[in-house]
Amino acid sequence: MKVKTLFPNKHRATEFFGLQIPMMEDVPLNASFDSYAVSADFVPYAYEKGEFTFSKPGEDLVDTQVHDLAFTISGDKQVADEALDKIVAYLRNVYTQVIAPTTNEPSGFHIVQRTLNSDNPEHAHCVRLLLVRIFRNEDFVCTEHPEFLLGMPIGQYHCPVCGTMVLAGIPHLPKDVFDDYPGKSEQ
Ligand SMILES: [Zn+2]
Repeated sequence: MKVKTLFPNKHRATEFFGLQIPMMEDVPLNASFDSYAVSADFVPYAYEKGEFTFSKPGEDLVDTQVHDLAFTISGDKQVADEALDKIVAYLRNVYTQVIAPTTNEPSGFHIVQRTLNSDNPEHAHCVRLLLVRIFRNEDFVCTEHPEFLLGMPIGQYHCPVCGTMVLAGIPHLPKDVFDDYPGKSEQ
């Protein structure tokens, strides 16, 4: 796999199965940035009183590794939004240059993001956690990740990518679970 470098003058970067992910150098004062590999069954769940909760939606993904880019943000709405703008700009670069470059060579990775807002009514619209997870395509049945929606009041829905019925908070079922019925053409 081709390794790409986003910011050649910077030396800090992390590696995820051959994918080189640049560190964010210009981290705003009221934000923090972490980049780490983690088991895919470890997903964000809630934000309460300044603490983030992660949870495990099941054992299915326990042996599958993913890579997280995690941003925590503090401050009032204005400074939080300013921090978010910088973070989004960084993520846009990561996405367009590393994950989905506009060449004919797909990177073999896809990403999903999740945000958790403040639970303080005064800061209700402030994003406190922005978590971007990078998945290796070959490790998953689909690029949709219902397990990443754990704790959200969504329930069952049709996967927007492949149409399989999935449940928020539970890993994506194999695509062929509902394909096996009479009358379905073989090809
Ligand atoms: Zn799907």
